[in-house]
Amino acid sequence: MSVFTHLDYDDHEKVVFHRDATTGLQAIIAIHNTNLGCALGGCRMWPYASEDEAIADVLRLSRGMTYKAAITGLNLGGGKAVIIGDPHREKTSDLLRAMGRLVNSLQGEYVTAEDVGIGEEDVATMATETSFVTGFTRQGGMGGDPSPYTAYGVFRGIEQAARFQLGWDTLSGMRVTIQGVGKVGYELARLLSEAGVRVYAADIFSDNLKRAVADLGVIPVAPEDILRQSAEVFSPCAMGAVLNEQSIRELGAPIVAGSANNQLATEEDGLRLASSGVLYVPDYVINSGGLIEVYYQYFGADRQEVLRHIDRVAAETLPEIFRLATLEHAATSVIADQLARERFMTRSLAHTDAA
Ligand code: NAD
Repeated sequence: MSVFTHLDYDDHEKVVFHRDATTGLQAIIAIHNTNLGCALGGCRMWPYASEDEAIADVLRLSRGMTYKAAITGLNLGGGKAVIIGDPHREKTSDLLRAMGRLVNSLQGEYVTAEDVGIGEEDVATMATETSFVTGFTRQGGMGGDPSPYTAYGVFRGIEQAARFQLGWDTLSGMRVTIQGVGKVGYELARLLSEAGVRVYAADIFSDNLKRAVADLGVIPVAPEDILRQSAEVFSPCAMGAVLNEQSIRELGAPIVAGSANNQLATEEDGLRLASSGVLYVPDYVINSGGLIEVYYQYFGADRQEVLRHIDRVAAETLPEIFRLATLEHAATSVIADQLARERFMTRSLAHTDAA
């Protein structure tokens, strides 16, 4: 296993490996870049098949956070944490408190929040050991799970994508397929259903799918068929790397717009989507609503400001990416990376000049 020469290392500033023998915690925190501010990113708990898989995931996720903060205009760096383990079987409050102590040992260089397998109540448990956490309800009722804001941002992004790609000014009558109806996918399904969209959904965790069918009337689809299901929009809201050479050929929708981080298996898949005529809405832009929410929770602002910021990303940043991609015959993922890099690398040059 290599780290410094890892394909996804990409000049990470710091990667911390930690094992706590008492609680069985095995965790990795990756800090990609702090040019714009402290690294903020969620903590994921997942039964990785190998340590290599966990390392690749945390490196790619933390890099994505740097780009997400930069393109959405937040003064934040990028970082992420992973806990190796099954959240349904191995998550205990002792383990979460040990994770809180690990986060605390970085003294604010990294601030954590929820992600797949880690919910608001888990973050609150970590908060008993460190103040470098956000995304949970604080005393007085402030804060909370950012997932509804992520879902809201994806919803607004789908509106923009449908307008650009299909010329639709309303979502009513549209078909959207959702892969994964967990915290974000469920809320997105609710917003879409309320807007008159026909929602198809799949989930490997049958309780989550049943809940979405019972509460919202979504149409259930088998997990292996969801990507192929014919629709106007495919919305990946589960794990990453779902878009690869084979799946792109099978895609049943002309738009991909979902919350999952790192949807492209490789950079070339962004180009593959573009040359197949599919509008790919870059993941870290469309799913930035949650980061915007936890940023304002941590540094202080009201709900209206959060919603205004999310609306701005959907109404200004996304159409600009679509426009530049068309103008330059480039993939939307490449354009998003360029715009993000311009912001956080410019800040890096400013630091060098000042030194
Ligand atoms: P979650 O764990 O609540 O939900 C994920 C759901 O996907 C679960 O129900 C799980 O069973 C399902 N799933 C996993 N693999 C699947 C598969 N192959 N097919 C179908 N379903 C599958 O997680 P979440 O918080 O809703 O996050 C979803 C995605 O969005 C993740 O990639 C996460 O990193 C990303 N994201 C979340 C937020 C947020 O605010 N929660 C913010 C930005 C990005």
